[in-house]
Amino acid sequence: MKLETDEKVINYIRRKIAEAGKIVAVLGIEMLVEGGGYDLDSNEETYRVEELYGYTPEDMLSTSFFNAKGERFFRFYKNEILTMEVKSTPAYDALLRLQAQGKLSAVICQNFHGIPQGIRFHKIIELNGNMNSNRCPHCSKLFDINYMRNAVGIPLCDNCKKTAVRPNIRLLGERVNAKLMTEAENACEEADVLLIMGKDMYDDRLEYSADPSRSQLKILFSQEKQLSDRKVDFVIQDEIQLFLPVVI
Ligand SMILES: [Zn+2]
Repeated sequence: MKLETDEKVINYIRRKIAEAGKIVAVLGIEMLVEGGGYDLDSNEETYRVEELYGYTPEDMLSTSFFNAKGERFFRFYKNEILTMEVKSTPAYDALLRLQAQGKLSAVICQNFHGIPQGIRFHKIIELNGNMNSNRCPHCSKLFDINYMRNAVGIPLCDNCKKTAVRPNIRLLGERVNAKLMTEAENACEEADVLLIMGKDMYDDRLEYSADPSRSQLKILFSQEKQLSDRKVDFVIQDEIQLFLPVVI
C-alpha cells in the first residue's frame, strides 16, 4: 500500500516507537471518521445540518441549547449523533499491539462516541464523556444508549417521569472535568511518543506538554493542510489506519 509520507520519516517513527517505553494515543475526529463516523464540524456537514435543523451542530451541542430547546436537541442528537456507529479500524489493532507490548500508557479520547465495541484499553481517559452513559440529573438513575435511541421525543427518566435524561457528554459551554484533564496532562508529560490522532472536536486546551527533561516525539495525524501552531515533530497526512500498522 502506498503511503504519502516519506520513507525516511516512516523508518524514523518506526524506530522511535520501537525504542519507546511509554506511548500515549490521543483519539480525535479523524479516528472517528475512519471508523465510519463523520465530522460534524466540516463545512459540508455544518451546512447540511443547518439546512435540516435550522441550527449548526455547534449551536445545538451546547448547554444553553440543551436546556432551552430540549426537543430540538434530542431530535438532532438522536438522528445525527446516536446513529453514528463507530467501527474498529486497523489503527485500533495497532494500538492494541502496543498495549500488548506494555507500551501504551494511556489512551485519551476526545470524541464522546466511545471506543468501538470489543476494544479494551487498560487506561482510557474520556475527556469529553461518553454517549453510552446517560444519567437522570434528578435521581441519578443510569440509562444505556438504547434507552436514548428508543425514546420518543425527549428521553424522560422512567423513575422521575418528568426529567430529561442527560447524556454523559460534555457540551459546549461546560468545562472539562478538572481531574480528567490533570490525568491526561500527566500522561502526556510522561510519554516518549505522543500519537495525536486527529483534531479535537472542541478544539481546546490539552497542551500535550512534555516533561522538559524528556525527549518526546510528537506526531500529529491531520488531513488539514493549514495547521495551527501546535508544536509537533511530524504531521502525517496519510490515513491513520494505513500509517499506524506500518510503524507498529
Ligand atoms: Zn430520574
